Amino acid sequence: MLHNPLEALKKYFGYSSFKLGQERLIESILGSRDTVGIMPTGGGKSLCYQVPALLLPGVTLVISPLISLMKDQVDSLNEIGIPSIYINSSLEWNQLEHNLYLASRGRFKLIYIAPERLESERFLGILKDLPVSLLAIDEAHCVSQWGHDFRPSYLSLASLANHLQSRPVIAAFTATATEQVKEDIIRLLNLYNPNVYVTGFNRDNLFLSVVRGSDKMNFIIEYLSSRKNQSGIIYAATRKQVDSIYDVLCRKGFKAGKYHAGLSDNERSRTQDAFSYDNIRVMAATNAFGMGIDKSNVRFVIHFNMPKNIESYYQEAGRAGRDSDPAECILLYGAQDIHIQKFLIEQSILSSERKTAEYNRLQNMADYCHTSVCLRKYILQYFGEKDSPETCDNCGNCRDEGQMSDITPEVQKILSCVKRMGEQYGVNLVASVLKGSNNKKIRLLGFDKLSTYGIMKEYSINELTNLINLLAAEQYLYITEGMYPVLRLGDRAVPVLTGREKVLRKVIKKAPVAETSDTALFELLRSLRKQISEKQNVPPYVIFHDSTLQEMSKIYPVDRLSMLTINGVGENKFEKYGSQFIEVISKYATQRGIVPTSAKTAAVPPSEGVASHLATYEMFMEGKTLKEIALQRELTLQTVQNHMVRCWQEGREVDWDMFISSRHEELILNTVKRLGAQKLSPIKEALPEEIDYFTIKAVICKMKGDTPL
Ligand code: ADP
Ligand code: MG
Repeated sequence: MLHNPLEALKKYFGYSSFKLGQERLIESILGSRDTVGIMPTGGGKSLCYQVPALLLPGVTLVISPLISLMKDQVDSLNEIGIPSIYINSSLEWNQLEHNLYLASRGRFKLIYIAPERLESERFLGILKDLPVSLLAIDEAHCVSQWGHDFRPSYLSLASLANHLQSRPVIAAFTATATEQVKEDIIRLLNLYNPNVYVTGFNRDNLFLSVVRGSDKMNFIIEYLSSRKNQSGIIYAATRKQVDSIYDVLCRKGFKAGKYHAGLSDNERSRTQDAFSYDNIRVMAATNAFGMGIDKSNVRFVIHFNMPKNIESYYQEAGRAGRDSDPAECILLYGAQDIHIQKFLIEQSILSSERKTAEYNRLQNMADYCHTSVCLRKYILQYFGEKDSPETCDNCGNCRDEGQMSDITPEVQKILSCVKRMGEQYGVNLVASVLKGSNNKKIRLLGFDKLSTYGIMKEYSINELTNLINLLAAEQYLYITEGMYPVLRLGDRAVPVLTGREKVLRKVIKKAPVAETSDTALFELLRSLRKQISEKQNVPPYVIFHDSTLQEMSKIYPVDRLSMLTINGVGENKFEKYGSQFIEVISKYATQRGIVPTSAKTAAVPPSEGVASHLATYEMFMEGKTLKEIALQRELTLQTVQNHMVRCWQEGREVDWDMFISSRHEELILNTVKRLGAQKLSPIKEALPEEIDYFTIKAVICKMKGDTPL
């Protein structure tokens, strides 16, 4: 029997605290209010309806737009012991009716349904017998024509409630924050006086950067070579570009896949699976590769071209780092990008009013690529967050101190060459003139007589082209639109030509690669996870996220208690996999003479900076109470309590008596002796309500401390 959301979170999901905004959304739903949750990608929306589903009677229906996404979520739920199914058009009617019969008898807590199913009267008819207490609508922006993924079938959701026994609570979730979309969601889904909660759009763990005017393909190859086992996505604007990026990657020996609307459904789902299962590590894709990605360990998202607006960019980039570990979002900007996007808007069938709106959004996107203010601030401001800090220290602009080189003389040479050629020719010819190439066209046009002919002959054509593209990206030059784009002087050219302004070239600093865990052990755990995942036929991250394995390889947990303090290890997963992982960890630790955590010694490798639990410990030693620490650090009390357990496991002194009243101690000790210390929940159940988990843990720790293991 679950008592509250936090208990459900810990027991099933293995997390010790809620992410920002989750708690109030869950409380609102449990309080029977219609609820709208607007949270960034990776913010943890699913949990906001999965936890209530566990605590409410009856079933929760979840509407989700993509079959692949549903399958992943349902696999994950069953994996942690929450019985769930999904219903899509591939099921036969009798199978469907049977499943729904089982559901009506309480066999499942969550049922995922594709919106298209709701267009069938017959299907709606058989939903009547279900005791539905919550209707959760994921990716709710699909109901709005203003959203970017409008789905006509979402409109039939409005009448769904009428087909049920009684109106359930309705909760809608999306990452799209615009006013129009929000209003559409409330109106078109018939929400009744909903609580609307918008969680901040900041994602701390994402390093944002824009790289202007680089040789994009070279950049990618270098990038991938410097990050051996990491997974990532490369988004490009057109199918053709995706094909060619994919070809280059394969030729260079990277395990790559490609995904765009020109491939068959079969090919697409095969590649997507290979990516999920870590069989390929880089996916070249158009924006067709989208909502279905639930993979949590995407370490980087590189945009080969600038997308059409900030909403799309942030959503695509946000697919990196869902596991909250550091991840990078890099936009490779080239001056041509804006023309591709303008062309796409021009070609579209939008009304002229909508076109103007799209042009404006495109301009905001282009400004992002050129701004020198904090990139995070720029995005947050765009989404209406007014009081975000001026700097973040985790974006290309904030980290960009120093390392500037003055390239004014080179720029002057290029600009004056463009001018002397009459602003009539393209990048290649300008580069050839600067290089002093001996070709017929140049001689014919008399450009070999220009004073700028051969003035940069020490550069390669490739370097010159890159430099010209950089200048175009920074508005010193302008590349015209159309079939034969030519170079003109840009808005910023004159002050440079007249020597009034300097041009500094930035050297992009890379985000530090976090390297705090034991990588050899991490690799062993990864390969164990892969074996299990293949046996179970689910993607590796459904078993454990990378971040969970990382934590294991920092802490070396070798018993139940220490395993359960790891984020992402809940009771069910511990029962299923705990022993296998413990075996690998103990063996590894023994071989290397590492004394693992549970042996209560200070053998844990020091983590970088001050780890969160140590910060708690320090404050505690200064005389603060756990409640005060929780308040001050904006953590839940339970997190702070877990910190204390962890510190003790790592060998620090903790006076457990401070947390145990003598009246309870004996009672708890007796129960522990009777039931064993292996499982906490039966102990909790056997004791009076007022005794919380932490007191029980405290007694167990004290007991273990008295009789060393
Ligand atoms: P969204 O749908 O908002 O993009 P998800 O629901 O897919 O995000 O969650 C993103 C990731 O965050 C998932 O890997 C999920 O397991 C993890 N997560 C969710 N809630 C928590 C939490 N309270 N603590 C730690 N991780 C969480
Ligand atoms: Mg989601």
